Amino acid sequence: MTNLAANLASTAEKHPDALAIKLDDFTLTYAQLRDAVAKFAGRLVARGIRPGDRIALSQPNLPTFPVIFYGALWAGATVIPMNPLFKPREITYYLEDSGASVMFGMPGDGPRGAQDAGVDFEVVDPADQAGLLGDADPLPQPVDRADDDTAVILYTSGTTGRPKGAELTHHNLDDNARMVHQQLVQTGPGDVIMGCLPLFHVFGLTCGLNTSVVSGAALTLIPRFEPGKVLEIMQRDRTTILQGVPTMYNAMLLAAADQEVDLSALRTCCSGGASMPGEVMRKFEERFGAQILEGYGLSETSPVASFNLPDRPRKVGSIGLPLQGVEMRLAQPDGSDAPEGEIGELAIRGDLIMKGYWGRPEATQEAIRDGWFFSGDLARRDEDGYYYIVDRAKDMIIRGGYNVYPREVEEVLYEHPDVVEAAVVGVPHEHYGEEVAAYVVRTPGSSTDAEALTDYVKERVAAYKYPRTITFVEALPKGATGKILKRELRTTTG
Ligand code: AMP
Repeated sequence: MTNLAANLASTAEKHPDALAIKLDDFTLTYAQLRDAVAKFAGRLVARGIRPGDRIALSQPNLPTFPVIFYGALWAGATVIPMNPLFKPREITYYLEDSGASVMFGMPGDGPRGAQDAGVDFEVVDPADQAGLLGDADPLPQPVDRADDDTAVILYTSGTTGRPKGAELTHHNLDDNARMVHQQLVQTGPGDVIMGCLPLFHVFGLTCGLNTSVVSGAALTLIPRFEPGKVLEIMQRDRTTILQGVPTMYNAMLLAAADQEVDLSALRTCCSGGASMPGEVMRKFEERFGAQILEGYGLSETSPVASFNLPDRPRKVGSIGLPLQGVEMRLAQPDGSDAPEGEIGELAIRGDLIMKGYWGRPEATQEAIRDGWFFSGDLARRDEDGYYYIVDRAKDMIIRGGYNVYPREVEEVLYEHPDVVEAAVVGVPHEHYGEEVAAYVVRTPGSSTDAEALTDYVKERVAAYKYPRTITFVEALPKGATGKILKRELRTTTG
């Protein structure tokens, strides 16, 4: 393997007429996508982009995303995917930190963030196909790249500080997409993947876009996650594979409450990015008749490290087994193995591990030791080798010397019939150091109050774990992928 974009060339060769991208009535076959990509690569070369140059890509899930993304890789450049909702300050930070030479944005985006960073700004209008491709000559073949050349720099908050750029190589991304294809979704032409995860995030990028391209499946795009619309598209397109974070599954379930929805073509649903509450999984499966498989990964691991694989027994609440080719272990703070049966920090090794954090050798050395990437997630392993995320190390609450894992309390809250969504965080407390606080979204019209809900939890967990405050909110703050942002809840309270 040389260039990740070579997968597109080879799939287009094998399945030229297979559907690659669909957005409502707009479609691209693999041959059309390859031609558009080769042409965009030609445009980049004509404007002086050379292998290794960094290109920022700020587009929602529209057909321009895969064209710019694969076009940049085809030309040998490195892509910095950015959330199109960023404000100028955030854009400037990403561009300056990555040393990007050009940013491709949307019509309506102001150039300010790029201007402040001294970076060229170009609008790529999804509605203007001639403008998208320009009049440059196509670049016939993807530019040769080495396996450990960086394909993508993905910014992630990691455990502390400002976002750091995880450098994922052509090999990292190629290998992960192939593993997802071969071991998990087993897609091919005729399969339809619902692309409702943002492509600028690693989950949507690898499991949605790169897995489709490696296997010849179609990817249906939706620019913004709207649960009712996603259900409508899935019914219309006879989607076979759904991928999402747990809040998406929950939102679809609610949206389907008073709708007839036929998802009979759906064969695999993959959940990751955050822990899937058992109740949400059960209700979704009961409603739609398709199984949800939960897995685990991070930006730094390209991302998929483990999954409940289709040919192995599924364990609810578990992130499954390491994929073949991935090693996982539980470590103590000094890096040695945690005693059998005990909770430890999940460490991961294999071809999925990023090259490092862009421009931050110290952070890289801290995160990757002896080839093991330390995830910052606390986990345990059962007798069959399945892993369970207990919580993020930094989300763990220490109340008066006792460890409270918010996830356990959240699971109980989700079991209450009037709870739609719940998040538990630690808030400062003068006596206990930290106190347990819950934020809850109730079902519309529910009259359950904080006292009743507190009693419900109190009956089901040890006394030091139940939330001392319950705040009812309209909605929980969520990040770009739909993950609940606990740090925002903590700042609200703290
Ligand atoms: P990101 O780099 O944005 O993909 O975030 C990675 C983080 O998401 C991990 O460090 C975990 O804390 C969390 N995560 C991913 N998958 C799961 C899962 N199945 N259960 C619990 N947490 C998860």
